Amino acid sequence: MSKNLKIIFLITLIAVLIISYFSRQKASLDKLTPKSPNKNTKIALIFDDLGQSLESLRQIYNLKIPVTVAVIPELKFSKNIAHIAARSGFSVLIHLPLEPKKANYYLTDKYKFISSELSENQIDRLLYNYLNSIRIAIGVNNHMGSKATQNPKLMDQVLERIKQKRLIFIDSQTTPKSVAYKIAKSKGIDTAYNQLFLDAIDDPAEMKKRINDLIDNNKSKKLIIIAHPKKNTFKFLKNNLSQLKKRADFITLKEYFANQ
Ligand SMILES: [Zn+2]
Repeated sequence: MSKNLKIIFLITLIAVLIISYFSRQKASLDKLTPKSPNKNTKIALIFDDLGQSLESLRQIYNLKIPVTVAVIPELKFSKNIAHIAARSGFSVLIHLPLEPKKANYYLTDKYKFISSELSENQIDRLLYNYLNSIRIAIGVNNHMGSKATQNPKLMDQVLERIKQKRLIFIDSQTTPKSVAYKIAKSKGIDTAYNQLFLDAIDDPAEMKKRINDLIDNNKSKKLIIIAHPKKNTFKFLKNNLSQLKKRADFITLKEYFANQ
């Protein structure tokens, strides 16, 4: 066997092993999270910014609750993570890079932001690549975008493509001035918006307060909460999930939109 063939064989073997491990665990995941008829609050928890590390996915998986993962396209492990997550029973979103207000601050050479600085053709080409890169995804949410989501013309173009692909859209609400949700709604897209960035403040005590306040104020509702694969976030969830599960059922985004 040539060296290249050996490497391809090895990578395929590892991928098959990972996928079979996660699909075997899926059955137990379903069993571990029975839906209680007494709890009216449903939480669709989205983990943003996946794509760079398989370790993040492993930690999310170990929480043993149904979640949604938002994967930035074209990163090192984007496709693998999307497929393993879907096989594990999670919903998958394309985490679409939209221009933030402080563009210089967030500058990265790993992916390009969709921005009003680009021509309509350039935007269409980027959108085509991003929206076709993770075929298993059921929808899109925005990565950053505090500038882009305030721009009705730009968001109209982005959301029109999302509609054509029959994807759902979650407005991450990285700015209160976002027009994305409103435009998505007017186009008849299945849409909702983020109600809480769980770990906006990187402190487990603050996370606990914020999520419980949100549930207190929104009983008998479906909530969308965004978290990030960070150390303190996992720490908070591990220590508080049993308490939270008494207050609310965790659901995937697919379930969120299933009975509307
Ligand atoms: Zn993000």
